[in-house]
Amino acid sequence: MSRRHTLHYAGMPAKVASPGRRVARHYAGRVAIDLHTHSTASDGTEAPAVVVERAVEAGLTTLALTDHDTTKGWAEAGDAAREHGIRLVPGIEVSCARRYRSIHLLAYLPDPHDPDLVGELERARHSRDTRLDRMVGLMAADGIPVTVESVRAQVEPGATAGRPHIADALVTAGVVAHRDEAFARWLGNDSPYYVSHYAPDPVRAVELVRAAGGVPVIAHPWSGTRGRVVSDALLEELATAGLAGIEVRHRDHSADAVRHLGALARSLGLLATGSSDYHGEGKLNRLGENTTGPDVLAAIEEQATGTAVVEP
Ligand code: AMP
Ligand code: FE
Ligand code: FE
Ligand code: ZN
Repeated sequence: MSRRHTLHYAGMPAKVASPGRRVARHYAGRVAIDLHTHSTASDGTEAPAVVVERAVEAGLTTLALTDHDTTKGWAEAGDAAREHGIRLVPGIEVSCARRYRSIHLLAYLPDPHDPDLVGELERARHSRDTRLDRMVGLMAADGIPVTVESVRAQVEPGATAGRPHIADALVTAGVVAHRDEAFARWLGNDSPYYVSHYAPDPVRAVELVRAAGGVPVIAHPWSGTRGRVVSDALLEELATAGLAGIEVRHRDHSADAVRHLGALARSLGLLATGSSDYHGEGKLNRLGENTTGPDVLAAIEEQATGTAVVEP
C-alpha cells in the first residue's frame, strides 16, 4: 500500500463542493476512497444522504457506509451517491466479542439478505437494546439524570442503539457538553455502568461474512485505550478463517501501530486499508483523513459476490 494514496482533505475549503457532479469531474483521474463511516442508521449524527453530501464536499470519489450491525442506511446512501456522482460501497461494521472484549469487523459488499448473517446482526441489535436499558437503569439509580425514554428519543426508529445515544441524551439534557465527555465520565469500557452485549466470536463473524459473499476487514485493531485490542495471534487466527484485510491507517492508531499492523498485513498476505470512521459531529474524525488505495479497493471488489458497488 503506497503512501501516495493517503490524501488529506481536512484543510480543504468545504465549499469546493457546490453541485455534486462537478466535484467528481474536478477530481477526475484522482481517487479518494474512505471505507468506514457511520450514519443515523447507527451512531452517526447525520442521515445516510447527508454523509454522502459531506463526502462529496470532502472531495471523496468513493465512500463506504458501514453502520454498526445494520444495512438500514444502504438504500438512502446509494440513491444519494448516484445523484451526486460518487461510488458507494455498501458495508457493515459487525460487532464481535471474545472474552467480553468488543472487536469490530468491517464487512464489505455482503448479501444483505443472507439469513445467517441477518440473524446474527438481529441478535446483536436486540442485545444492544436490552443492554442500553440496563446501563441507563444503573446510571439513573446512581442519580445521573438520564431515562430510557430520553435515550430512546436519540435513536432513529430501526437504527442500531449504542452508548453514543446515552451520551446524546446527556448532551441534550445539558449534563455534558459532548459525547466524549459522557464517555470519559460514565460510558467507557471500565465504567461501573458498562454492560456488554451479545456479539459473535470474530472467527464466526469472518466465516459468516464470507458465506454471505462479503469481504471481511478487521476494524481499528489497536484502537482501545489499552492499545492492542486484537492480538497478533488473533489476527493470524482470523486470517486462517478467511479475513481479507486489516484497517491499518486509522485515527486511533499511533505511528508504531501503523508500522506494526502494516508489516503484519504484508506477512499474512492481507490487504491494508485506511479510513476515517466518520461519525458526523459525534467524533472528531473527519471524512478522508485516512484513505484506501484504488488497488486495495479493486482487490476487495474482486473477492466480493454478495452485492455490487453502487456506481454513479
Ligand atoms: P457501543 O457500540 O455501544 O459499544 O459503543 C461504542 C461506540 O461508541 C463506538 O462505535 C464509537 O462510535 C463510540 N465512542 C467510543 N468512544 C467514544 C468517545 N470517547 N466519544 C465519542 N464516541 C465514542
Ligand atoms: Fe460507532
Ligand atoms: Fe468501530
Ligand atoms: Zn466505526
